[in-house]
Amino acid sequence: MANAEIIAVGSELLTADKIDTNSLWLTDQLNALGVEVRRKLVVGDDRKLLAESIRQSLQNADLVILTGGLGPTEDDVTREATSEALGRGLVFRQDLLDALLERFQRLNRKMADNNRRQTFLIAGAESLPNDRGTAAGQWIDCEGKVLMLLPGPPNELQAMFTGQCAAKLRGKLPVRVIRIRLYRVAGMGESDLDQLISPVYKPYENPVTTILAGAGDIQIHLRAHGETEQEAEALLAAVGSPIEELLGDRIYSRDGSNLETVTGGMLRAGGATLCVAESCSGGLLGGRITSVPGSSDYYLGGFLVYSDAMKTRLLGVDAELLRTHTSVSEEAAKAMATSARARTGSTFALSVTGEAGPESQSGAPVGTVIIGFAGPAGEPEAATYRLFGDRNGVRARAAQWALDYLRRKLR
Ligand code: AMP
Ligand code: MG
Repeated sequence: MANAEIIAVGSELLTADKIDTNSLWLTDQLNALGVEVRRKLVVGDDRKLLAESIRQSLQNADLVILTGGLGPTEDDVTREATSEALGRGLVFRQDLLDALLERFQRLNRKMADNNRRQTFLIAGAESLPNDRGTAAGQWIDCEGKVLMLLPGPPNELQAMFTGQCAAKLRGKLPVRVIRIRLYRVAGMGESDLDQLISPVYKPYENPVTTILAGAGDIQIHLRAHGETEQEAEALLAAVGSPIEELLGDRIYSRDGSNLETVTGGMLRAGGATLCVAESCSGGLLGGRITSVPGSSDYYLGGFLVYSDAMKTRLLGVDAELLRTHTSVSEEAAKAMATSARARTGSTFALSVTGEAGPESQSGAPVGTVIIGFAGPAGEPEAATYRLFGDRNGVRARAAQWALDYLRRKLR
C-alpha cells in the first residue's frame, strides 16, 4: 500500500472559481505516512464518468481516496458511482439514520427527506462517523486495496482523516519513512543542468528527482523512502553526493533558502555592508535584498539610476565615459559600483546595467547585462552576460545574476 490516487469530486471544482484544495492537504498527510500520490483527478458530478474513474484508479493504485459528492442532494453521486464501479449494492443503515435524526434534533431542525440518501453505505463498507456534518465517510476494503469516500468540506474531511483514517491506514502500511533533499542552483540553464546530472539520477526510481526551474534559479528535489531513516538517507546520499560533486559551488543552498537570504547571511556573518546601483533592474535587486527580514543589518540602500543623466548626477559617473563606452559597458558598471560604494561607505557595492529590450537603446544586443562589483580589496570588477527572456525575464535574471555574483565574491 505504497501509492495512492485522489479523486476530487464536484462540478464546482471544474469552474474558474473553485479550486480543489483537499487533494493538496491529503497529499501532505499521505506523504507523512510514506504513501506516494501518483495521480489526482478532478471529476464533475457525473455518475458514469466517476464510476469509470474509480475503476481505473483502483487498477492503478493501492489506495484510492474520493473527496466530495456525499451530500444529500441529487447532484452528489459519489455513493452511486462507487456502487456501480465495484458492482456492490447500497445498503440502508438504521444506525446512520438514527445518528442523523439525533443530529437534527439536537440542532432543533427537521431532517429533510433527501438526507436519507446519506444513510446508505456500499455493501461491506465501514462507516466513518462525521461529527461536523451530515455526510458519513466510508472505508471500503476491496481485494487488498482500500477505497475511501470522504466528505468535501475541508474541515469535515480533515477531522475525519486525522481522527479515523490515518490510524487505520497506518495499521495497513509497512513502516516507510520519507526523507527529502533540496538543492538550489544559480547561474546555470535548466537543460545544461539536466544534461550534467541526469546520468546520476535517471537510474533511480527511489529517490524521485524533480527539477523546477525559475528565472536563473533551479531547484532540485530528491525524495527518498525507506524502511528506516538510515535507508532513506543512504538513498539520498547515493544520488545527492554525486550531484553535489558535479555542481560544486553552483549549489547555493541546501535548505531551500533563496539567494537573497543566503547572501544576506554571508554579509551578516562577515560584519559587512552592501549598497547597489541599479539601471536596467530598476530596483528589483534592492527589492529582493530588502525582502529578507533583518536586511537592515547589512543593506544600506541603493541608487536607481535609469538614465545616463541620473548616473552622472546621483552617482557622479563621468558623462564622457558614458558617451564613449555607453551605459551598457563594463566601464560604466565599474564606475557605478565604485561611486555607490564611495558615497554610502558600504563594504561592498553591486551595480547592474544592461539592455532588457525589446529594443536596444545603447547598441548592445538585447539581453546583455553587466554586473559591476566594488569592495575593499582590489580593483572594481565587472562581468558581461547574455541573459534569456523577454523584458521582465531579463530584468529578473539580472537581479539573480547580481546576487549570485555577490555570493561568489563573498565565498
Ligand atoms: P460535497 O461533499 O460535494 O457536498 O462538497 C461540499 C463542499 O465542500 C463544496 O461545496 C465545496 O465548497 C467543498 N469542497 C468539495 N470538494 C472540495 C475540494 N476538493 N477542495 C476544496 N473544497 C471542496
Ligand atoms: Mg458536491
